[in-house]
Amino acid sequence: MRRYDLQVHTDVSPCSRNSPRDVVDAALDAGLDGIAITDHDTLDGYEAVAALAPDDLAVIPGVEVTTTQGHLLALNVSEVPPMADPLAVIDRVHDQGGLAILSHPFDSLREHYTADLEAIAKRVDGVEATNSRCVLPRFNRRARSFAESHGLAITGGSDAHFPMEVGRACTISDRPVLEAIRARATRTDGRGGYVSGHVATKLSDALSLLDV
Ligand SMILES: [Zn+2]
Ligand SMILES: [Zn+2]
Repeated sequence: MRRYDLQVHTDVSPCSRNSPRDVVDAALDAGLDGIAITDHDTLDGYEAVAALAPDDLAVIPGVEVTTTQGHLLALNVSEVPPMADPLAVIDRVHDQGGLAILSHPFDSLREHYTADLEAIAKRVDGVEATNSRCVLPRFNRRARSFAESHGLAITGGSDAHFPMEVGRACTISDRPVLEAIRARATRTDGRGGYVSGHVATKLSDALSLLDV
């Protein structure tokens, strides 16, 4: 079985302090077979990580797109989808042959989805059912049951913004992960409920204000 962390940020996201080297080292330490680089509305972090990764660590180019509702993971894309309504973003991802995954869709403490859920479910490829930064268990539970009731693939990702978070949640598959998502043949591992990433974010924000 292969294990992929399908949501990893790097320091091209203003909220992350993960250098490309940190990301590669942390992924190897976690024993992962692959990671998706999913910075906020940019692909700029991907190349540096891919260049440092050994051959046995797959690096998937991705973007965590800001939609008019929640965040959306665009995997295997070469252009940044525009910030738009979720249905339009999903179409732009598919135009490029990419996969569209709802990111922490029901985490009401962060960006989340409340409208057009049936229409979105008909178009999207999968749902992030395990996000390690979802503080309350019900946020991930609801995402999983939404995926199950609509026959959608499930993914897991740490949503790492700092090295210690990489690998806290992952997607498990018996084949390359993009193929497995298309076949609705993935499982997830790991859990939500970690608060240390959020604490690190607050601390990092405070240090930035102090210009440290
Ligand atoms: Zn962020
Ligand atoms: Zn997000």
